[in-house]
Amino acid sequence: MSNKLLRIKKGQDRRIRSGHPWVFSNEIDNALTPLKSFQPGEEAIVETHDGKPLGKAYVNPHSLIAARIFSKNINDELNEIWLKKHIATALSLRARLFAKPFYRLVYSETDNLPGLVIDRFANDLVVQINTAGMDSKQEQIANALLAVLPETRSILLRNDSKIRVQEGLTTYVKPLYGLPPEEVELEENGILFTAPLGKGQKTGWFYDHRMNRARLANYVDNCSVLDVFSYLGGFGIQAARFGATAVDCIDSSRSACDFILRNAKLNQVEDKVNVICDDAFDALKALSQAGKSYDVIVLDPPAFVKKAKDHKEGLLAYQRINELAIKLLVPGGILVSCSCSMQVSMQEMLEIMQRVAYRTQSQLQLLERGHQGPDHPVHILIGETDYLKTIFIKKVV
Ligand code: SAH
Repeated sequence: MSNKLLRIKKGQDRRIRSGHPWVFSNEIDNALTPLKSFQPGEEAIVETHDGKPLGKAYVNPHSLIAARIFSKNINDELNEIWLKKHIATALSLRARLFAKPFYRLVYSETDNLPGLVIDRFANDLVVQINTAGMDSKQEQIANALLAVLPETRSILLRNDSKIRVQEGLTTYVKPLYGLPPEEVELEENGILFTAPLGKGQKTGWFYDHRMNRARLANYVDNCSVLDVFSYLGGFGIQAARFGATAVDCIDSSRSACDFILRNAKLNQVEDKVNVICDDAFDALKALSQAGKSYDVIVLDPPAFVKKAKDHKEGLLAYQRINELAIKLLVPGGILVSCSCSMQVSMQEMLEIMQRVAYRTQSQLQLLERGHQGPDHPVHILIGETDYLKTIFIKKVV
């Protein structure tokens, strides 16, 4: 057990004392406990300037978030017992929320497992490890998962996120246990999908939008729908099943477009689903020039603001795509507009819509605000975990 200490400078411990689990490199007393002396992933007791323990963390001297506290109890260790306990707690929340075993099983800090993300597709699991501290526990993670979910058939490591590079880790995709299938079938809101595991985006499926997709049912009956940035058809196919008369799905990825068609067939809605494999901005302009209009449009772009320095440009991109969508809506039509950029707030999204209303001279009503589903719980002290925003807007005229 490591008793190495990491001391916080005077006046820098307030946030940590209130329960925020991150320690930034500039908050550390480097004279007394030099960050340089730590190996990436090494455990340490975090303490105040006057030696009072704050919790147990793992450290990475190469990361801006120099330490992540996983427990307030300094006797805890990030070992198989810890992993088992917190994976089991995470599982019991999801089992309470969802009847079927398709969900985000573990969401990092909010489940007391910093750096660990796990998506469950019944007995096939996809694990993404984003920090050096968690990365050194791969074997224990696999053992803990098999103990908590003995029915597990395979575990795929999707260790290909860019965040790993900032932690000094390599990126790769490989099995951690068993033989992960190339594709899985999943069920969401009673509707079936096929998703690619190893080659799909992120962990293969975006469970975070489950509730927003379910809300579509109230809006799409007998409607024409345009699903922009569709990926595998998450919104579009559900809209078709919920009674839409015609659904156009746009995505620039050829392989995503092939899956949309397959998912349409899987749900017997291929006669109403049409795929446009193109850049979304170009496709929306082309649809507008062709005189098309829609009753419902879903916009779910990739994060346009990934870093603070992209903020202004990203907000403009959101404005442009929303403006194009509002122009394509019939009067009385519904826009479902999403942002997964953690650096864009709900308030900023509403301000974007105010500008869009002015620029298109339309009257817009805000009907609903949606969030990430409860299998992506928000850590009440970490604003970054509250990343997904969806607004349901009616274009009155
Ligand atoms: N709406 C989806 C998730 C969208 S993820 C769902 O419900 O699951 C973002 C998608 O946007 C990805 O599939 C990506 O291929 C696509 N994409 C990224 N840039 C694009 C662009 N400029 N034009 C069209 N599609 C784009």
